[in-house]
Amino acid sequence: MALLVQKYGGSSVADAEKIKNVARRVVKTIEKGNQVVVVVSAMGDTTDDLLKLAKQIAPHPPERELDVLLSTGEIVSSTLLAMAIGNMGYKAVSLTGAQAGIETDASHSKARIQRIEPRRIVEELDEGNIVIVAGFQGITRDMDITTLGRGGSDTTAVALAASLKAKECQIYTDVEGVFTADPRTAPEARRLEEIGYEEMLEMATSGAKVMHSRAVELGEVYNMPILVACSFNDKPGTLIHGGDSMEIRNRVRGIAHDVDVAKVTIVGVPDQPGIASAIFEPLAKANVSVDTIVQNASVNKVTDVSFTVARSDLDKAMSIVKSVAVSMKAKECVSDATLGKVSIVGTGMQNAPGYASMMFRTLYEHGINIQLITTSEIRITCIIAEDRVKDAVKALHKAFELEHA
Ligand code: ADP
Ligand code: ASP
Ligand code: MG
Repeated sequence: MALLVQKYGGSSVADAEKIKNVARRVVKTIEKGNQVVVVVSAMGDTTDDLLKLAKQIAPHPPERELDVLLSTGEIVSSTLLAMAIGNMGYKAVSLTGAQAGIETDASHSKARIQRIEPRRIVEELDEGNIVIVAGFQGITRDMDITTLGRGGSDTTAVALAASLKAKECQIYTDVEGVFTADPRTAPEARRLEEIGYEEMLEMATSGAKVMHSRAVELGEVYNMPILVACSFNDKPGTLIHGGDSMEIRNRVRGIAHDVDVAKVTIVGVPDQPGIASAIFEPLAKANVSVDTIVQNASVNKVTDVSFTVARSDLDKAMSIVKSVAVSMKAKECVSDATLGKVSIVGTGMQNAPGYASMMFRTLYEHGINIQLITTSEIRITCIIAEDRVKDAVKALHKAFELEHA
């Protein structure tokens, strides 16, 4: 008997009919002789709605209260799914993240899983229950409820799969797998049959929200195969795994994009040792994740430092940086919250020249201005205006011939 962990995202459990559909799929998996642990997201836009509601009550809701509030979304769907499965004559039990033994650190709204004590889950499975775990949440040692960051139910699923030594983690969503680009932005995008952890991780951290990046990271660490497939049909999906890729490697595998980018520039910073740490240490302490960092060449011992953050962190970043700028006698701080980024990803780019120039030429030919550039060994990212991101994705998809297998 194989143990599978299946995760169903928000759009797959958006209403009563869809929850019943998920119940039928879970039962079908059981009927094939498997044991199943299911992880669910909140129904539809519940998390966004709860966030909005909190902000109507308090413009800056306390992080602890907000996490408890947001965790309720996943609890609602887990109970309803357990009821739907029960109604079909099968035994199911819902568990909150805390009941499932998911212990996290205390960084509210982006907590990291530190340990899983799966005793309760194992007991319930031994009793013959289908176990439904509320995704996206955990509990600290001090018994405070935390959430894992937007899209975090994927991470719950892969972490549970690793901890329970499941055969596979299956992520069911509203698209038929991982595509060469977001199929909503580029309908010409093509489903990949498989993709390595490394490439998927770069895609996810560059904005391909079909998988939470930390889930891919965990998959790689524990060598857990992850199948991404659609919850509305039985098409084969995409397998994320660690083995050698069967597809041609020497090329770009996919285009990722993100429109949640804000840039902060500190103008006229005295160019002396210690400046970078003076800027970035307080940001790290405040739990602001900084993405791209660029320091200009200095002129007359003065330089400009720019970095990008998620838009939700911009206010926090600006208030920290403004006070740092005053103490280091910089000229001013400016920000721009109308940016996005587009990335090309592929292990085939490693040690192969020509990909960067092709990317820059394609953007130039479409009149798209590049503001910042960053690279990893298998990724090149350009920060551009938000309103040109869609054009950039489509143009790059074509230039790198991704519509053909
Ligand atoms: P869920 O609610 O099931 O977790 P998400 O909305 O988080 O689903 O993720 C699925 C979405 O990811 C798709 O609807 C699609 O628009 C988007 N997406 C972005 N990049 C890709 C990609 N490369 N392949 C497939 N989907 C992608
Ligand atoms: N409900 C959470 C969100 O909307 C977590 C998830 O869906 O994975 O971000
Ligand atoms: Mg998601």
